[in-house]
Amino acid sequence: MDVLVIGAGVCGLTTGICLAEAGLSVTIRTAAPPQKTTSAAAGAVWGLVRVGPPDRVLDWGRTGLEVLSKLAAEPGTGVRMASGREVSRTPLAPHYWTELLPGLRICEKSELPDGFTSGWHYTAPVATMPVYLDYLGARFEQAGGRLELAPVRSLADLAGLAPIVVNCSGVHARDLVPDPAVIPVRGQVVIVENPGLQEFFINRDQEPPWITYMFPHGEEVLLGGTNDEGNWDEEAKPFIAERIVAHCAAIDPRLRGAAILGHRVGLRPYRPEVRLESEPFGDGMLWHNYGHGGAGISLSWGCAAAIATAVRSGGTHPPGPP
Ligand SMILES: Cc1cc2nc3c(=O)[nH]c(=O)nc-3n(C[C@H](O)[C@H](O)[C@H](O)COP(=O)(O)OP(=O)(O)OC[C@H]3O[C@@H](n4cnc5c(N)ncnc54)[C@H](O)[C@@H]3O)c2cc1C
Repeated sequence: MDVLVIGAGVCGLTTGICLAEAGLSVTIRTAAPPQKTTSAAAGAVWGLVRVGPPDRVLDWGRTGLEVLSKLAAEPGTGVRMASGREVSRTPLAPHYWTELLPGLRICEKSELPDGFTSGWHYTAPVATMPVYLDYLGARFEQAGGRLELAPVRSLADLAGLAPIVVNCSGVHARDLVPDPAVIPVRGQVVIVENPGLQEFFINRDQEPPWITYMFPHGEEVLLGGTNDEGNWDEEAKPFIAERIVAHCAAIDPRLRGAAILGHRVGLRPYRPEVRLESEPFGDGMLWHNYGHGGAGISLSWGCAAAIATAVRSGGTHPPGPP
């Protein structure tokens, strides 16, 4: 084995794919299968939310946007290009990273729901996460990768198992590294039958822990949600689900009474800055790739490609600014 990756969320799988497709022999060891990770709960649209630092995130995000846009043209990946709006009840300008999105435009007043005063419309890749994670898992195995279901108790236990270890443990890096800078930002979502929504919708007003959004995925719509800092609870709470549906139905009445198909909870691995760097580890190298906050789907290919490039060139740091 050349590489041992910890974690089978979107960051572990894409890192595994990039390294395995570069010809290395890669094993992913994970405590939870891909469908039970935070990644499985995501909405998930390309966007650089709750993540830093801005300059590096913009570079990784650019790569993510390119790769996801290409995957949107391939059947079976679970990714497609979708259009939608981000809106606010107060004057709000588009986020800095929307400069990467072709077709971004400010909404006309007539496009805003009652009570909203600003917003923008754009087209971006959107992933149906359960399908996308299956696609990533299959692509990893096709490239010769192996997935092992087993927890890692301590990083020290892994020294000597492979010359390169990559830590993609998401929010659990807080204990595993340990790294107190990592904080869970709990997100709960509800899956309902789609009563006809075509476009996604995100309300960017600050109403912690609530954030109202809707992502149509064919026959289903994913309704959100929450941004609950410091909350580790992975159980879906019925009272939260009720409020999520009520918030969404207040904006789009077609959702009133929509049949509920499921509930998901994920713990966004928030850190002031993504940790993408390496350190000596026994005779080998330990890479860290965690702390992607609310943007792991969007950044995963950029971060994975940076590690693969550095590993192939025998480097210890990702290319680009330190
Ligand atoms: C509700 C919600 C909506 C979101 N929407 C978006 C969006 O629209 N766009 C976007 O880009 N991002 C979005 N995100 C954020 C995104 O989901 C995360 O940033 C991303 O999933 C993090 O991926 P990860 O692979 O780092 O972590 P995870 O998906 O949490 O995976 C971590 C992996 O590490 C494993 N692991 C941890 N500890 C150990 C251990 N000790 N031993 C073995 N294995 C271990 C776990 O079992 C798991 O397999 C959203 C998140 C939530 C919750």
